[in-house]
Amino acid sequence: MKFNCFKDPDPESGPPVSRTGCIFCDVTRDKGFDVVYEDTELVAFRDRWPRAAGHLLVIPRMHIGTVSDLRAEHAGLVTRMKERGIALAPGATKLGFHIPPFSSVHHLHLHVFTPPFTALGRVMYPVHSRGQGKGWSWFVSADQAIAILQNGHRIRLGASKP
Ligand SMILES: [Zn+2]
Ligand SMILES: [Zn+2]
Repeated sequence: MKFNCFKDPDPESGPPVSRTGCIFCDVTRDKGFDVVYEDTELVAFRDRWPRAAGHLLVIPRMHIGTVSDLRAEHAGLVTRMKERGIALAPGATKLGFHIPPFSSVHHLHLHVFTPPFTALGRVMYPVHSRGQGKGWSWFVSADQAIAILQNGHRIRLGASKP
């Protein structure tokens, strides 16, 4: 089983897949996931295809599609995901999300990277800024995502509204 976000992009940016068949709705050690943390709201595990010395994914237990499905009310959840990532990986330098169609698993997952990055890891997660917001990129940092949601906007490939 693989869930690499970049190698196997979903060509469709349509509605998120149903719970049925969503591998991230059932993240347990029994299923082979390297779970490093879990509570009632969040689960964290090591990415099977690490692109950095440390590469964790933090996900909500509840099925939420992708960052494109997030609304203002999710800003708190994203903040808790970010804080959990930092707590688990104090040396992390980059935390963020792929934006459809560049996310192969349509269950919200925060990437948490602790350097050094692999060669691929250096190019797969570009964070671009424009002014206070997000520039054009298929990857959005957790801080950018939180700011966009708090401003009442949706997260897209393009630059965020100021
Ligand atoms: Zn991803
Ligand atoms: Zn799911």
